Amino acid sequence: STCSQTGPKVCIIGSGPAGFYTAQQILKGNPSIHVDILDRLPLPYGLVRFGVAPDHPEVKNVINTFAATAENERCSFVGNVSVGKDVSIHELQQAYNVVVLSYGAEADRELGIPGEGLVGVESARSFVGWYNGLPEHRHLQPNLNTEVAVVIGQGNVALDIARILLTPIRLLQETDITEYALEALTRSKIRRVHVVGRRGPLQAAFTIKELREMVTMPDCRTVFTAEDFSGVEEALAGIPRPRKRLTELMLKSVTGRGQTEQEVQRLADASREFYVKFLRSPIQVLPSADGKRLRALELAVNVLEGSGKSVRARSTDDREVIDCGLILRSVGYRSVAIEKSIPFDHSHGTIAHENGKVNGKQGLYCSGWVKRGPTGVILDTMSDGFQTGKLILRDIESGVVSAETRPGSEAILRHLSNKGVQTVSFDDWKRIDAVEIERGRERGKPREKLTDLKEMLRICTE
Ligand code: FAD
Repeated sequence: STCSQTGPKVCIIGSGPAGFYTAQQILKGNPSIHVDILDRLPLPYGLVRFGVAPDHPEVKNVINTFAATAENERCSFVGNVSVGKDVSIHELQQAYNVVVLSYGAEADRELGIPGEGLVGVESARSFVGWYNGLPEHRHLQPNLNTEVAVVIGQGNVALDIARILLTPIRLLQETDITEYALEALTRSKIRRVHVVGRRGPLQAAFTIKELREMVTMPDCRTVFTAEDFSGVEEALAGIPRPRKRLTELMLKSVTGRGQTEQEVQRLADASREFYVKFLRSPIQVLPSADGKRLRALELAVNVLEGSGKSVRARSTDDREVIDCGLILRSVGYRSVAIEKSIPFDHSHGTIAHENGKVNGKQGLYCSGWVKRGPTGVILDTMSDGFQTGKLILRDIESGVVSAETRPGSEAILRHLSNKGVQTVSFDDWKRIDAVEIERGRERGKPREKLTDLKEMLRICTE
């Protein structure tokens, strides 16, 4: 119980990397503070569980650090609480000295082109959520009964999706990909995946690790368009090292330079293809004869204008059509305003704030994707969480934040229990975790994720 606790009480909304790193900083910096971390789901870790690709288990090691934070005696995880619905931010602000919004980006950006709503067009967010077991997307039925898929966007999320669609199934079997996705992918007829981006090779948004995985994938050939690379070799000398290495890897694949005989043979024998299409913008999704499903994607051919960081793509009158049965739009996630009371910057899709302090709201802070926008890897989110955490520590010490004793979780848990909300503690989560690991063991996987919320809540009460 928190009633005897006198130090400042902090409530963090969202248990992704931003929430956990902010909590870690605060707990470390002041031994009298108590932190509660709320999440709408009955499980912690946000996109580390529901975003990071199943075949990248090493990325998920950060979970060990987060679990250590959750086990800190001054920290509690409170799952299955949807802020804005089960409890308001105002109610939380009355119960805590500090409230931190770190609820990520729960929506996705749209293309705004005709035909986007046709059957067969999915968002990256729902497709990734589907294979990673996000409860609200587990019933998605992406059309895999087609030879060609197009991913619109060229960031690492786009490459994750292409990789999941093209990886030989035996390599996915040992990951924590959901069993239903594995079954669907086993029957998949997809042989070709195009990844489409507006700008050129020198502006590519994916990184070298993700590209290398594609160019070395068994039974798959990566295909670039040589024309897209005119002038690129000449530009190499003047560009920073990470991008230079990425570009060199692309050039190697385009020219075939330095490929061993074995490599040439592997590529020739491959039954699947990964097309990287630069300088193309989606214009419209073309419907099938009955007008219901998608049949093809029409692209405009672009040219580049300007130089350096300000290079822009301009569409020409040239068009190109790719016949396909599945389109995945991967042009970014988007944060939403979970409550009208929160100042929201709609042009950037983030909370309106100054260095992590929400505009015009005493004791209210933000961190992570909802603060900086939905870009950057976990490490970037870590720095951001630490930054907001330090600011909160300073504001508590200097008295900017009210120091009066607040009830903290005691008041909130009572409120939730009165509303009939079953909350999930970190110990409860450990029971779900144990069931998942056990079910995974039977299948030779690190875990078999539960995707049914009712089942998870039942396990907590058993
Ligand atoms: P999130 O991780 O999204 O956490 C937000 C949390 O808030 C969630 O748990 C959510 O359930 C909760 N929440 C939302 N709304 C509410 C509400 N109303 N009430 C209560 N709780 C709520 N980075 C890497 O370093 N390596 C990778 O391989 C990698 N792969 C990625 C793959 C994908 C598909 C995506 C999208 C991102 C990937 N990233 C990767 C980036 C990384 O996931 C992010 O940097 C990081 O997760 C952002 O952290 P966050 O805490 O701001 O948001």
